[in-house]
Amino acid sequence: MVCPSCGYDDYEILKSKGKKNKELLVQCLECNHVYHEIAPEEAYELDVRVIISEFEKSWKTSIKLYSDEYLETGTLLYIDDKDVEVTSIENNDGNRVYECPVVDIKTIWVKSLDTLARIGISIDNQGNVISHKIEVEQEFIISIGDIGEINGLKFKVYGIKTLERNMKKGFAYARVIKRVYGKLLSSKDKSKVKYDLTEYVVKTTSKEKSYN
Ligand SMILES: [Zn+2]
Repeated sequence: MVCPSCGYDDYEILKSKGKKNKELLVQCLECNHVYHEIAPEEAYELDVRVIISEFEKSWKTSIKLYSDEYLETGTLLYIDDKDVEVTSIENNDGNRVYECPVVDIKTIWVKSLDTLARIGISIDNQGNVISHKIEVEQEFIISIGDIGEINGLKFKVYGIKTLERNMKKGFAYARVIKRVYGKLLSSKDKSKVKYDLTEYVVKTTSKEKSYN
């Protein structure tokens, strides 16, 4: 609102009352005319319900957003120490919408962008193959000849299959690895373990190796 007398929009507050929508008595800084004004509503922080998904996992959390903002799908946010992207927004009417004023949001769905690399590890124990799926940092390095351990069993890496080739020497980053091949070492083997991957295992299967 501007001064009803001269049209100038800057004023000095003489009096204010009311909590949320403050009623102000103001004086125009240009012509000194005194008039009533409603204070602009101040933005406040809202806790918005969020569902984060990462691979097959998902969990509930929340994020603080300002009441005077809009949110749209595709927006990048930082929640629970993760970079995430908004994939869906449900408004208070229960509809999925492309964009929504923050105050009307019921739930937002986001997917984690800093996902881990998921790779397979096949460990050959004289014909019996144990296969693990593990999730590690994208930058985790695995080299041919590495001694690893999973569930107390030591193995030596002899092959790596990346997105592009089969390797028999060298190393690769987890982000390009599809599968790692290892040979089980005997329990008496004294080789020093370079990394224990037990806590990164998400799935384990075991089967007889077929030679055809
Ligand atoms: Zn005025």
